[in-house]
Formats: sequence, structure tokens, C-alpha cells
Amino acid sequence: MTIGIHRPTQLVIDQAAIYHNIAAEKARLKPGVELFQVVKANGYGHGIIQVARIAEKAGATGFCVAILDEALTLREAGFMQPILVLGITEPQYADIMAAHHISATVGSIDWLKTAANILSADHQLAVHLALDTGMGRIGFQHPAELRATVQYLDEQAQFNFEGIFTHFAKADAADTAYFEQQIDRWKAFMEVLPKRPKYVHVSNSATSLWHAACNGNMIRYGVAAYGLNPSGTELTAPFTLKPAMSLTTKMVYVKQLPKGYSVSYGATYTAQQDEWVATLPIGYADGYERRLQGFHVLVNGDFCEIIGRVCMDQLMIRLPRQYPVGTPVTLVGEDHGQQISLQDVADYCGTIHYEIACGFTQRLKRTYI
Ligand code: PLP
Repeated sequence: MTIGIHRPTQLVIDQAAIYHNIAAEKARLKPGVELFQVVKANGYGHGIIQVARIAEKAGATGFCVAILDEALTLREAGFMQPILVLGITEPQYADIMAAHHISATVGSIDWLKTAANILSADHQLAVHLALDTGMGRIGFQHPAELRATVQYLDEQAQFNFEGIFTHFAKADAADTAYFEQQIDRWKAFMEVLPKRPKYVHVSNSATSLWHAACNGNMIRYGVAAYGLNPSGTELTAPFTLKPAMSLTTKMVYVKQLPKGYSVSYGATYTAQQDEWVATLPIGYADGYERRLQGFHVLVNGDFCEIIGRVCMDQLMIRLPRQYPVGTPVTLVGEDHGQQISLQDVADYCGTIHYEIACGFTQRLKRTYI
């Protein structure tokens, strides 16, 4: 996709914030517990390569991604660390994974049997067995299946049984009942495991922040690295999470609307009096959602309402007074002591900050500070 480098709209990524969020969690881990940085979805919108570089410096010893292509992007950029693909990759790609030393998530013995026919004789594929303890997404559901699969792996030189893991559905909630149910199922699986692989891991950000006792020997650290609280506002993180992403632009057009004049598609907003209005070069094609009509941005520390429908590439705001073209505008971040967080944007859209962060499209220029 074309990146907008000739317009003033940009995502500003604070590298020191990401470093802090990773190093602070790394410092809390027990000796011997590794941190794999989750950089899927373009590093949650922050830039996969840039985040991986910062994570490496902050102490991450491996990476997790969602799909094989993201793993290949890291390999092409020269990252040599272990990489785990968290989603199910079709077994037809097993040989590509093995050739690039990329570890596969496996949730059935059938997957292994198909992959065994595809792997070249001189390739060995590292696999992590996913256990479904209550997420209901991927993974073995019964200890008996796990036992049979581990026995199969023992007999097949084509595979290296490198890891075993599960994923919690409610590690970010104050009510821990469901989390504990998942722990019980995890323990039942562990009882049938004849030997522990190199990596035993159960923790996303929320689990590591609030249930560190069950971390295993590696954590899959995602959203907290970007300075976002995995629970939203329900739980307080054990250290300050520093948000890394801001979104800024500049006014490209300013005018006074006469009372009674309407704004944007559908003419859903009509000026109640003579009003100063600025047009901003950002819209829903940048991932700034159409639902944000009525939300606000910051101009010189003042909250200014988004009036009329958000268009594909532009939106309009009401100003408290006349401002010159070129005046800076903050859509996410701090401005003169006021703040709009990704959480605020997410609350307004009725979603979570994860979706807002990774919904910003490639058209938005990313500037690293
Ligand atoms: N582990 C798995 C299996 C995941 O799917 C994810 C993200 O969705 C993570 C870890 C990282 O989660 P978080 O970003 O909440 O830390």
C-alpha cells in the first residue's frame, strides 16, 4: 500500500516507551524465564521490524507472530532468534517453516501426519503443542490425545518437540474463577506429559502481569510492550505502562461556517451559530473509524469535536476560534497537558485498544522517535 509521506498525518512511535515496557517486565521475571515479544499484526500497528529491534535490545530472546509470512518478514530482516507462529499454519508449508527454523503451533496429530509427508528428509520442524484449556480456539482438548501425540513425536525424527502451551481467555479479569478452571485443565494435561519440552508457556501480557506464579519458562508478551493495559481499565498494572503510539496531523483547511450550514456526507451536522471549522487529512481509510463522529481531538490543549461524518480521507472539527492552516492537531496522545488515549478512542467505538492500534492502516506514515 502507498504510504502517505506528503501529508502531515503520522503515527508517532516512542521507542523508549516500548523499551521501558519490555525491560520492566523482563526485570520482574524469575531467572531463567524467557520473554518472547509478540509482534504479530505489524507489531500491533507499531511496526514489526522496529519493535523487534527494540525488543531484542530490551531483553526479548524470541518472537511470536500470528502467521508464517510475519515470521518470514523477521527472518528476511535478519532476526536469528526462535520464532513461534501462534496460529495454525497449513501443513503444506511445513517444509518452508523447517527451512527457516520457524516453530509451528500444532493442535492435532493429523496435522503432524500430513506434515511428515511434506517435510524433506534433511529438515526437522520444531513444534509447540497447543492445549485448549478453555479458550475454545485451537489445541488438543483431551489429555489422552496429548499422550498419543507426544508418543508419535518421540518416534518421528522429522519433528523436534520444542514446546507446549495454552492460552487464557480471562487472565485480564478481576474475577479469577474461569482462569483457575483453565489452570486445573492445564494441570490435568501436564500429568500425562512424560517429559517437558524446552519451552513450557502459558502467559500473555495479562497472565504475566497478574498471575506471574504460573509463567512457566517463557512468556508471550504482547500488548503491554506497547504500553497498553491488557485489562483496559479493570486491573492496575504492577508498573507504569508507557503508551508508545500517538497520532498527529495538521489543519489543511480552515473556514468559518455560517449558522445553519451543514457538514459532510448525509449533512448530519448543522452549525448552530457561526463556527470556525478545520479540515484534517485523515479518515477511515487510515483506520480512523467512521464511528468517531462526535468524538474529539486536541488543538492547543482544547478538546475539539469531530463534526459530521468521518470521510474516507478527511474529517472536520469545530474550533473554539480561528486557527491558521498548519496548526498541529493530536488525535491520540498528549497535547498541552491534556490526553486522548487509545483506550478513550476504543471506549468511544465500543471496542478494545488492541483493535484500534492494529486497525491503523499502512497508509499512515510511522515516525520513530
Ligand atoms: N499468546 C497468544 C496465543 C496470543 O494469541 C496472543 C495475542 O492475541 C498473545 C499471546 C499476546 O497477548 P497480549 O497481547 O494480550 O499480551
